[in-house]
Amino acid sequence: MENVKEFMADVIRKNPGEIEFHQAVEEVVESIAPFLKENPRYTEANIIERMIIPERTVIFRVPWLDDKQKVQVNTGYRIEMNSAIGPYKGGLRFHPSVNLGILKFLAFEQVFKNSLTTLPMGGGKGGSDFDPKGKTDTEVMKFCQSFMSELFRHIGQNTDVPAGDIGVGAREIGFMFGQYKRLRNEFTGVLTGKAIGWGGSLIRPEATGYGCVYFVQEMLRTRGEDISGKVCTVSGSGNVAQYTAEKLMELGAKVVTFSDSAGFVHKEEGFTKEDLKFVFELKNVKRGRISECAKALKGCKYIEGQRPWGIPCDIAFPSATQNEISEKDAETLVKNGCYVIGEGANMPTVPDGVKVFQKARILYAPGKAANAGGVSTSGLEMSQNSMRTSWTRDEVDQKLRQIKINIHESCVKYGREKDGYINYVKGANLAGFVKVADAMLDQGVV
Ligand code: NDP
Repeated sequence: MENVKEFMADVIRKNPGEIEFHQAVEEVVESIAPFLKENPRYTEANIIERMIIPERTVIFRVPWLDDKQKVQVNTGYRIEMNSAIGPYKGGLRFHPSVNLGILKFLAFEQVFKNSLTTLPMGGGKGGSDFDPKGKTDTEVMKFCQSFMSELFRHIGQNTDVPAGDIGVGAREIGFMFGQYKRLRNEFTGVLTGKAIGWGGSLIRPEATGYGCVYFVQEMLRTRGEDISGKVCTVSGSGNVAQYTAEKLMELGAKVVTFSDSAGFVHKEEGFTKEDLKFVFELKNVKRGRISECAKALKGCKYIEGQRPWGIPCDIAFPSATQNEISEKDAETLVKNGCYVIGEGANMPTVPDGVKVFQKARILYAPGKAANAGGVSTSGLEMSQNSMRTSWTRDEVDQKLRQIKINIHESCVKYGREKDGYINYVKGANLAGFVKVADAMLDQGVV
């Protein structure tokens, strides 16, 4: 790569319409371009040109019968992006917005994230445009079985190990694991996020949210501060949002918002542990909408059609989806005194929003560093499965905490700028890149 502009023009021409993928690639190449110039061996071997093309992409038809015996059909995908440092690893997303470009962005990000964890995992991502919302358990099961009836050919404990993401939680992982086991006639750790009774790891459900808070603790430490007493806005109300809130409350911070795709709820004095129990039950068991909190919880207001970024806070935890913080939202956050961002979601801030945060010199952790706790603990689940053992809650939590501390150190090492400011975007991208790129150099032209 000689020139970022020309390189990106080529990426856009070869991957038409995949805007999220273009965005993710541009962010990485912009931050590693000076390093590539200083280290021509990577450019001579066309490493970045190779990294942006998936090693393999599988797209398949997923037909299934709904409860009325009507035939439904969705598209299934698995992007096997890079296996230089280990088997492909990354979640499955079930959401109507899913398309090739979104999954390629997620798979590309995953390569860097997994490299940062220090564990031997390559990068992949997959999913379907299937919408689990409003479907019965039987319909979800039938879809998952049909999805796995094709996917099973392409994955395996030493090849590709999927996990959950938006719309894929314990229920979906269970149905997919059951079908895989039936088709292969073997019990292996082919999926992570399994239930504890049949191969899952303690702390895996909590890991992305907890890990994001641990990373923010490390960032605050660089300024001699801690998290207790901080006012925090959280977006989303799914897996990542729930456990981010749980850890924040445990550490004495005040969580004032949750959201879903229809709007957000705000409780100025902070949600209590009892309130959080209600949210867990509402989202994980009843599968209801976040607006219901306003009716059930004292002092809680519902604001329809908006995101929580107008609420003043010290720390914001975007934990719903990509591009949920616009440039204007970023300006509002900074103007209202927010000075730490911990991205639980993948790429939740638009590029101009990231520039706002960096210009304001606030502590800004991009998703691939902040939310890597989920995949790290998936890696720990794989180790436990291979060793046919299980570690205690404390053991896994300690390992997770240490991994997050290590990721923070890598970001500081590669991201500290001349004026002392830690550019976590540059740090995460460079640290993630070097390990994968060196492995690719070692392994020749493959
Ligand atoms: P869940 O499905 O458990 O929850 C997703 C939450 O985000 C829901 O509240 C959902 O609301 C909201 N949401 C989804 N899409 C949109 C949208 N287009 N606009 C507004 N809100 C939306 O998913 P997770 O909590 O697992 O994932 C959240 C984010 O974290 C994603 O970006 C994911 O890639 C990332 N992540 C997840 C990891 C994990 O271990 N689960 C690991 C690393 C990153 P609604 O119910 O209305 O759809």
